[in-house]
Amino acid sequence: MRCAVCSRQARGFGWFNPNLSRSDPRRRESYRKFCSLRCQGAYSNLMKKTGGRMIDPTEMEIAAMTDCLAPLGDYVAALGLQTPLAEYSRDQVLGLIEVVVTAYQDRMVDGHEQAAGVPF
Ligand SMILES: [Zn+2]
Repeated sequence: MRCAVCSRQARGFGWFNPNLSRSDPRRRESYRKFCSLRCQGAYSNLMKKTGGRMIDPTEMEIAAMTDCLAPLGDYVAALGLQTPLAEYSRDQVLGLIEVVVTAYQDRMVDGHEQAAGVPF
């Protein structure tokens, strides 16, 4: 199972909507898992702020993707702008993926924290 905030592997941190009774099937559907206390806190704070209503994740995801452009550009520039992607070594491609995925995950956590308005 993946973290509901950053998509890393979930590890023992969870959340459910406490405003729903135990017999309400929506309570089980609201259950989310997280990779860390930070992601759990960010999501929990956002749910408190919005009253358990999820904001449109598309806008946050687009912002996170946009924020990947600068680190992606820096990485490609460090390898040499004239080098075609087809000539990247396996390690260079893996490095590129790591830069983009890490930037995306960090931005998603930041986005949840900012939307909640409460630093964790
Ligand atoms: Zn996470």
